[in-house]
Amino acid sequence: MTPDIPKYQAWRRRMVDQLRERGITDETVLAAMEKLPRHWFVSDTLLDTFLYDIDRAIEIDCEQTISKPYTVAWQTQLLSLQPLMTVLEVGTGSGYQTAILCEMSARVHTVERQHTLYRKTKALLASLNYHAKCFLGDSFNGVPEMADFIYDRILVTCGAPNIPTGLMKVLKVGGIMVIPVGIGEQRMLRIYKDGDTPEQWRIEDHGDAKFVPMLQGRNFEK
Ligand code: SAH
Repeated sequence: MTPDIPKYQAWRRRMVDQLRERGITDETVLAAMEKLPRHWFVSDTLLDTFLYDIDRAIEIDCEQTISKPYTVAWQTQLLSLQPLMTVLEVGTGSGYQTAILCEMSARVHTVERQHTLYRKTKALLASLNYHAKCFLGDSFNGVPEMADFIYDRILVTCGAPNIPTGLMKVLKVGGIMVIPVGIGEQRMLRIYKDGDTPEQWRIEDHGDAKFVPMLQGRNFEK
């Protein structure tokens, strides 16, 4: 693993300054992003300043991407996270977002449908001493292995065709889901679950979003 030398720390300070200029104000999000080396979550051959470009998504395995730093900051800020909350992340991918949530003292469960990413990222997170629980699945109905578990927050990092009602079931009443929704064009929604029925879900639209699609089923191919 490439050590976190002062040069990379300086790149991250600049990244955080740019996030502030772009309107990110949640200091706990900014502190986590300043602390966590993003280059640990991509291939070593990608070590360059563009890793810390706030508008740059980067390819990882299985033709997936690690979200842009701006998107990570934006979605995490929308979560309104408090320490020790339980969070379900949909789309583990590289594990970068998972580690940011852990740095913010959340108790994190994360689900990935690509077997290769699930396996690799689970091992990476454990080697970095993050205690997130990793699951393989498509999460449209939450996490079958954790039946009856409900979450304070749900963060979806892939674009869902519509609001997955099965996933809303595992969100606490009073909880918040942040999710990009739409076929073709996506919108970033923040959903407040004020009650169990859809009429009691308050939906805020936070504008355009662009994510890889949320797909059904597990994928065991490379
Ligand atoms: N949070 C990730 C972003 C990864 S991109 C990071 O920080 O790197 C989105 C991920 O969602 C991809 O890895 C994709 O395979 C995964 N994904 C897509 N549909 C899914 C589903 N239904 N359930 C779980 N993961 C899914």
